[in-house]
Amino acid sequence: MANTIQQILAHLPSVDVLLKEPSIKTLEDQYSRATIKEAVQTVLADIRQAVLTKEREELPTQEELRERIQQKLAIHSFSLRRVINGTGTVIHTNLGRSSLSPRIKEQLEAISFHYSNLEFDLESGQRGSRYSHLVAILKKLTGAEDVLVVNNNAAAVLLVLSTLTQKKEVLVSRGELVEIGGAFRIPDVITSSGGTIVEVGTTNKTHLKDYQQAITEETGAILKVHTSNYRIVGFTESVTIKELAALAQQKQLPLINDLGSGLFIDMRRFGLPHEPTVKEALEQGCDIVTFSGDKLLGGPQAGVIVGKKEYIQQMKQNQLLRALRIDKMTLAALEATFELYLDEAQAIEEVPVLNMLAQTEQDCLNKAERLAELLRPMTTLEVKIEKDSSAVGGGSYPEHLLPTYVVALKGSLNADELQEAMRNADTPIISRIKNDWNYLDVRTIDPQEFTLVIEGISKKFGNKSDV
Ligand SMILES: *Cc1c(COP(=O)(O)O)cnc(C)c1O
Repeated sequence: MANTIQQILAHLPSVDVLLKEPSIKTLEDQYSRATIKEAVQTVLADIRQAVLTKEREELPTQEELRERIQQKLAIHSFSLRRVINGTGTVIHTNLGRSSLSPRIKEQLEAISFHYSNLEFDLESGQRGSRYSHLVAILKKLTGAEDVLVVNNNAAAVLLVLSTLTQKKEVLVSRGELVEIGGAFRIPDVITSSGGTIVEVGTTNKTHLKDYQQAITEETGAILKVHTSNYRIVGFTESVTIKELAALAQQKQLPLINDLGSGLFIDMRRFGLPHEPTVKEALEQGCDIVTFSGDKLLGGPQAGVIVGKKEYIQQMKQNQLLRALRIDKMTLAALEATFELYLDEAQAIEEVPVLNMLAQTEQDCLNKAERLAELLRPMTTLEVKIEKDSSAVGGGSYPEHLLPTYVVALKGSLNADELQEAMRNADTPIISRIKNDWNYLDVRTIDPQEFTLVIEGISKKFGNKSDV
């Protein structure tokens, strides 16, 4: 028997009543109250509308209501979400590598949400090139003649090799046949770009004469690869960039250097060993240098190619470039990030990756004390401060750790369960387990994120009824 419209509407539960319903209340484990309330309101409004237009003539069951609310919530919550990085690994590939500088927000927004001169020359009113926008700034920062950017450094290496060494031999030291995470292997990249690999030297020692002897008519380039994520120690020898550059020049071959991270700042100021910057690599005679946008540069995911114009012009003609093309948001973020590097002190302050590396042991202790102090009254967990070490990450400086302090947490749950609970916070908190404690390394947590950490933890392990 059909109900009248008024009868159905009168029996529809109110928002407040529904929110108190136990089956709805349990959703608070996953979602904020505001989000649930919004979903409840929308679902009830939809049902009311359907009743008014006579699309439905019966009251929803409790089960249907819950199901529909849950569906709404699922849409609400994105798959890709912000997290708190408590691991202390600064360039954490699984957590998005480097986070961008807040200073570039305005530029990123202006280019993303409006039209731009992406491929339009404002001076002539003619078609322009998206790759032109980085030329001036990189010339200033590195002295490079020309620049090209693609999706990531793997793509950069692929484009360089497939342009310059197609059907030719590529000389690489046996000590530099690197595999970067995600199955990027230098020998395979050379092969898939249509070249042939010629291994020179041995794993631990490669001499200049090894390169000299390997050069033939078929040689297309000498490739030097930064051994980012490992070190060969002990009885070792490798050839300097300068020596290789002289040889390459004499034989009229391009010297390509895959720098991996691509530094713009001398890392000794962070207590890390010196490694050549992009500028130094070019000055020492590399013809082409490639590096990532989102490793130590602290920009967006990108692969940057800098060097001699004659080679980069050839790469611009390569069909492959279209498939590896960088988008405007990335370009905007990259140009704005490079802009910060014009003033080194500003870059260190405002590029999060550099800022995190620059934090001293004492800075970390101060931060840890603050977080622990805020946390203690809010949680039933045991809270203590420990000395520990953070990693640079992203395959950079694999054996150099930075001294830090962590806030360590322990509760009635075991360490794995506690870690999982923190991962399920509204803003997931990613911790590291050591000796049965969950470590939150403050090096990679911005003080502005402390509120989110406290909210997340107190919601699950709070000792106050109002939190
Ligand atoms: C990281 C790295 C790459 C890959 O760079 P992506 O930007 O991750 O594609 C290539 N070569 C070296 C030496 C690296 O360290």
